[in-house]
Amino acid sequence: MFKLTKITFCYTASLLLSCYTGAALASAPVQAAPVSQAAAQAQLAPAIYVKVQPDGLEVDARYQLHGNTLALFNVMGAVGLPAGQTAFIKDLQVEDSQGKNISFSTTPDGDWVLPVGDQPVRVRYKVETGHGAYQWPAGVEEVAYKTDEGLFFTGYALFVVPADKMDPNIKVQFELPKGWQAYTPWPKTADNSFNASSRRELLSNVMFFGTAQHQQIQHQDYSLDLVLGAPYAKDSQRFTSLLQSMLQQSSTMFGSTPNRKQYLIVVNEGFADGGAFEGSFSQLIKGPATEANRVVWGNVMAHELLHFWNGLSMVPASVDEEWFKEGFTDYLTAVLLHRGGQFDQAWLLKRFETMYSRHAIGRYYQRSQASFQQAGHDKQPLRTLVYGGGALVAMAMEAEMRDATDGEKGVADLMRSMFSEFGTTEKGQQPKGYSSADIIRHVKLVSGVDMTEFFRRYVSGNEYLDITPYLTRMGLTLSHFVEEADIRPDQQATAAAKRNFLQAYGPR
Ligand SMILES: [Zn+2]
Repeated sequence: MFKLTKITFCYTASLLLSCYTGAALASAPVQAAPVSQAAAQAQLAPAIYVKVQPDGLEVDARYQLHGNTLALFNVMGAVGLPAGQTAFIKDLQVEDSQGKNISFSTTPDGDWVLPVGDQPVRVRYKVETGHGAYQWPAGVEEVAYKTDEGLFFTGYALFVVPADKMDPNIKVQFELPKGWQAYTPWPKTADNSFNASSRRELLSNVMFFGTAQHQQIQHQDYSLDLVLGAPYAKDSQRFTSLLQSMLQQSSTMFGSTPNRKQYLIVVNEGFADGGAFEGSFSQLIKGPATEANRVVWGNVMAHELLHFWNGLSMVPASVDEEWFKEGFTDYLTAVLLHRGGQFDQAWLLKRFETMYSRHAIGRYYQRSQASFQQAGHDKQPLRTLVYGGGALVAMAMEAEMRDATDGEKGVADLMRSMFSEFGTTEKGQQPKGYSSADIIRHVKLVSGVDMTEFFRRYVSGNEYLDITPYLTRMGLTLSHFVEEADIRPDQQATAAAKRNFLQAYGPR
C-alpha cells in the first residue's frame, strides 16, 4: 500500500480550469512515494469539485465506482417533472481512469448505468437552478431554491454518486463568485473546502452558497451555523436568543452536547415548512419573523434541535419506539422553551392542550385502534398517536416520577439517564438503539417507579390513556369535550402537586 501525503489534480482544458489540492490517505507523515497515476487514483478518497454560479453549477467528481450505476438519491417526481431532480442534471459525462469517455444508458427513474463497473471514474455535469419553480411533494426546502442572495441546495439535488456503495471521507471543494461563501454542516478543511464523512453526510444535508447573513452560535464544544435570508437578517436576535437558550437547556438536561458537534440551519422566506437532515435543518417562514409567529417557527426549530440528542445521538431500536422519539421531543421542547424563559406559562399549557387534542383526534376521529407502538409503523397518517400519544405518556410519566421522589426526579432525569447509556456512541460506531424495556428500566433506575403495567395497557396496548388524573397530580386541571381541551392551574391543587409543577416546569 502506498501512503500519499498530498495529491493535486489539475483540470486542464476541461470544464473547470482550476486545481484541486486535497490530502489523501495522510495517515502517516511519510514522503510521497512514486506511484503510477492509475494506482494513485485507485486509492483516492472521493473528491468533488463544484463551481458555483448564480445561474448554474458545474460538478467535477472522482469516485471509485462499486457496481456500475450512478444516481441521484431521494428523487421525487413533481408536477411536470416525472423524473424529479434528475431533470436539472445536464451534459453528464463519465470518463475512465485513462480519460476515455464511457458511454452509458439511463433508466426510466433517471439512473446512469455504465457497461462496465467497479473502476475509478470521473463524472462531470451541470446542474440548473430552476427547482424553485416547481411544486415538490416534500416542499422546495427539501430540494433546492434560489434567492436574491444565493443558492440553497440539498446534497440529494446536487450530487450524482455511485448508487451501490461509496467510499467514505469525501472531499468537497466549492469555487464561488466573488464575495460568496459556502455554508455546510461538514468540517471545514480550508476556505470553502469540506470533508463529508460518508455518502449519507454528503447527500442528507443542506448547504447555502451566497451572501446571506451568517452567525455562528457556540455552546461548549458544539457550534451551530445560522444562515438567515434577507427578510430575517435584521431580526437575527429573535433566532439566536431562542437557539442559545434551547442549546443551553438541552445540554444541561442531557448532561452533554449531542454527539454531532456541527449543525447548520438555513432560514428563508416561503411557504411555511421545514425539513430536517442529518446535520442540518432547512426552514421557510411565511412573511416576516414576528413575535406572533415565533410560537410556530420557534417551536419547530427547537423540536428539530432537540432531535440531535433524542433521535440522532440516541436512537430507537425500531419504529416501535417512534412515540418516544417524537412524543417526548415534543413534550420536552415545550418544557425547555418555557423553562428557558422563551415562552410563558400560558403558552406551555396551550402546548399541553394541543398534545391532548392530537391524541383525541387519533382515537375519536381517525378511530385508530393502533397502540402507540404500532402507530410508529404508519407514522405520517398516525402522527396524532405518535406525537400526541407519546407526549401524553411523557406527561403521565412526569407525574409518576415526581410523586415517587418528592418532586425531585422527572422526565428530564430519565432523558439524562438514558443518554448516558444510549447517547454517547464512540465515533464510527453504530448507536445502540433503545427499546420500551430500556425506557421502563431507566424510569425505575431514576425514580423507583415500575411502569411495566402502564406500558402494557397504554403503550404496547391500546387502552385509552386518560391524562386527567396525571395532570391533577401536576397541579393542573383539564376540561374537555371530544378534542377540545382547556388546561389551567388547579385552584384545588395539593401542596405535593404544586411542588411537582414547580420542579418540572419552574424556571431554571
Ligand atoms: Zn420530530
